[in-house]
Amino acid sequence: MTIPTRFTLSQADIPTHWYNIMADLPQPLPPPLHPGTKQPIKLEEMTAIFPENLVMQEMSTERWVEIPGPVREIYALWRPSPLLRAVRLEKALQTPAHIYYKYEGNSPAGSHKPNTAVAQAYYNKQAGTKRLATETGAGQWGSSLAMACKLFGIECRVYMVKVSFTQKPYRKLLMQTWGASVFPSPSDQTEFGRKMLKSDPKCPGSLGIAISEAIEDTVKHPGTKYSLGSVLNHVCMHQTVIGQEAIKQMELAGEEPDVVIGCVGGGSNFAGLAFPFVRRKIVDNKKARIVAVEPSVCASLTKGELRYDFGDTAMMTPLLWMYTLGHDFIPPEIHAGGLRYHGMAPLVSHLFKLGLIEAVSYGQTKAFEAAMLFAQNEGVVPAPEAAHAIRAAIDEAIKAREEGKKRVILFNFSGHGLLDLPSYDAYLSGKLKD
Ligand SMILES: *Cc1c(COP(=O)(O)O)cnc(C)c1O
Repeated sequence: MTIPTRFTLSQADIPTHWYNIMADLPQPLPPPLHPGTKQPIKLEEMTAIFPENLVMQEMSTERWVEIPGPVREIYALWRPSPLLRAVRLEKALQTPAHIYYKYEGNSPAGSHKPNTAVAQAYYNKQAGTKRLATETGAGQWGSSLAMACKLFGIECRVYMVKVSFTQKPYRKLLMQTWGASVFPSPSDQTEFGRKMLKSDPKCPGSLGIAISEAIEDTVKHPGTKYSLGSVLNHVCMHQTVIGQEAIKQMELAGEEPDVVIGCVGGGSNFAGLAFPFVRRKIVDNKKARIVAVEPSVCASLTKGELRYDFGDTAMMTPLLWMYTLGHDFIPPEIHAGGLRYHGMAPLVSHLFKLGLIEAVSYGQTKAFEAAMLFAQNEGVVPAPEAAHAIRAAIDEAIKAREEGKKRVILFNFSGHGLLDLPSYDAYLSGKLKD
């Protein structure tokens, strides 16, 4: 008998609503604070950089938020995304565990990020925004927003962390193909960028610096708004299409996950898969363990502090209640550029504090070993970020083997690595270090 390995849904099964976990939190999330007054930030103070419709979503406690028709129509280009069972990997590991993964690599940009990029471009268009400014690490977010802006006719400016700009030229070309302007950050386009370059011309950049540049660009140019690819509540919420689909697909597979895994940079792909499962933990008393995986050199949950901190290096953003390594922390140059962020989504931070989720961290060598094993058994080449989730999934499967017990593992395959081959080159030629 063939084991079913691919669980697909039809276009009609694209979720009609996003899930807002704010409605189900056992304790309320401490609100973002105004950096000057240290008082909870007001709607009108956020609208300098975000359109009002998205600020309202950011502050919303409504459980189910309807997905606008035009957004669902674009989602249909790649959603519902498939859920697969990695039977060859199971066999290679000789594990009794069942390993499932939700494949977000089939979006046009190759990752989960278009799930929120399309929504954000749509709401900005509705609000009359002409131009969006943003930052990007590995280029995944920049390319997703570039595509979304093009589809809705908005100009897009991307500040790309310089080390990735050099290491990952193909994502820059992808952004340019979708019509965006791309600058290596720190850049000469902003005062903050010029200041950083003056003090350190070789500065490799960081997400924090790039965010500062994008915000400065926004406040200095009328008609421009800022867009963030992770961390914020509305971004995490837009990603929950992933988990809602996965719940239906696990039902098709006739299994219930014992452990749900996602890698975390700012926390959004993890949130997208995990929050609908966390809801079932809170509301339906289900017992699944939910695990966030971070890179050990930038481990905000496992090594950071829970406190109010800025989202960016120049201290321009509201203060967010989150696990942080400090807004001035410049993470080492690892290949998983999308995981190089000093903080963590406040919602993910809060769930961790409440004990509803767990966290582990891995060095990049261990992650790449897992990525190789995955590619050689399942075919798909993972992004270095996704490799961290795969590492954790494999370790869970090995534990299951050692305990001689079945375990159902579900992880988020946040993106493919076809534009990350230079990092595979580093691994294959023995140059990858932790
Ligand atoms: C950006 C990115 C991540 C990390 O960002 P989150 O907001 O934590 O999801 C993970 N995987 C891929 C493929 C990415 O592009």
